[in-house]
Amino acid sequence: MIDLTITEALKKLKSREISATELTRAHIARIEKYGTELNCYITTTPERALRDASAADERYANGTPRVLDGIPIAMKDLFATRGIRTTAASRMLENFVPEYESTISQKYIDAGTVLLGKANLDEFAMGTFSKTSYFGAPVSPWQRERRLTAGGSSGGTTSAVAGGLAMGGTGTDTGGSIRFPASITGLVGVKPTYGLCSRWGCVAFASSLDTPGPIARTVDDAALLLSIMAGHDDKDSTSAPDAHFDIDSELKPILGTGKKLRIGVIREFQNVEISPDMKRIFESRIADLKSAGAEIVDVSIPNILDALAAYYIIAPAEASSNLARYDGMRYGLRVDGTDLIDTYKKTRAAGFGDEVKRRMIIGTAVLSSESYDVYFMQAARVRRMIADSFNRAFEMCDLIVCPSGASTAMPLDSDLSPLEYYALDLFTVAMNLAGVPAVSTPAGMAENGLPLGMQVVGRRFDDMRVLQLAKHIQQFSGVNNRPTVIMGE
Ligand code: GLN
Repeated sequence: MIDLTITEALKKLKSREISATELTRAHIARIEKYGTELNCYITTTPERALRDASAADERYANGTPRVLDGIPIAMKDLFATRGIRTTAASRMLENFVPEYESTISQKYIDAGTVLLGKANLDEFAMGTFSKTSYFGAPVSPWQRERRLTAGGSSGGTTSAVAGGLAMGGTGTDTGGSIRFPASITGLVGVKPTYGLCSRWGCVAFASSLDTPGPIARTVDDAALLLSIMAGHDDKDSTSAPDAHFDIDSELKPILGTGKKLRIGVIREFQNVEISPDMKRIFESRIADLKSAGAEIVDVSIPNILDALAAYYIIAPAEASSNLARYDGMRYGLRVDGTDLIDTYKKTRAAGFGDEVKRRMIIGTAVLSSESYDVYFMQAARVRRMIADSFNRAFEMCDLIVCPSGASTAMPLDSDLSPLEYYALDLFTVAMNLAGVPAVSTPAGMAENGLPLGMQVVGRRFDDMRVLQLAKHIQQFSGVNNRPTVIMGE
């Protein structure tokens, strides 16, 4: 039963061919079998899941089912869940049990989904392999004897969804944390337009960039999840006033409809070194698009290669301010010192891991009066220029495609420096700086038997067409989206 996509499962649930309880039990069994090895959940909630499932079954019996009634999902452990520990993968919040529900997790409850547990991630979502988690890194279910990364920071969700330990789930994308992990685990990862999905109740990393979004095995499933996540929220001041994303059932075709589609390829990315596999796959998918009638156009985003530098100034700056609240006074870890200042120091020294401390030090430095103009303001200008360039590019084309990363998943024990990790975000950060929607969709299989993804990027609030094109590309990818195959059963 864990083979089913969300769309397929909903049909079977509606026709009462399967029950939500059976579907949930199958996933709980899968978690019992592989959960420890994959380390994809920080907290599992099987009793809650079975309660959710039986409520869903009752609604099916009464003829009053909700949109996603009975679908078992994983919630990134960055979204506050009432009465369920929410850690952000940090020692600082190891025992934090919120008294409130984030808007996103509330929307999943309202849609009738079944909560299987809180998915692992990088500490405070800072990282690329989920290795900065206080609870240890999640592992990819692909070629699992090799212990490959499932990516980061939403690596617990990708490990769970790719391995059949959830049918779909949530991530957050500040600089690529949904798209990169999805791309190396054969999944669909959606970074919606900034402002489409509420950040309220989601542990903040860099507020002007943080974007909640769905992760699933097919684009149709991801679109369905996005439709329940999207919407204006008065509690989030950056939520778009008219935010909505509606879909009746499946995404409609975007090519072959008689209307010419212009697809842009970013000139500046052409000179970036990528693996021969990624190059071959990207070129084949472009060729498919051409033969499906799309017009391929060359577009320029002149400052796109500076996006990385701007991001690694802006994101730490915002993080240093957001994380100032963890001082041991109101909630979270507290290590008593000799006086107030000593308590702050001891709490923060013990509660945060190395990467989080590195970001706070960088962030505090770039915001200091000596550095503010040279670093922070410059980065803000680069950000503005990149956003303007995207706008200009979208006068030449309807959608843009580019790789999601340079190569397939690396082993977790790869020895990379912080700068080498940061460089892996090259293809993803610009879209966060510009606030535009971007989806990573499976694009092809590399020689080593691992999947690779590519991105579709659109104008702000053009999330629908971005997904429609992503669906078209996934159909040609040859990447299997069934978890049983991945686990070699
Ligand atoms: N890898 C990036 C970073 O470490 C992106 C993280 C994210 O999107 N949350 O900041």
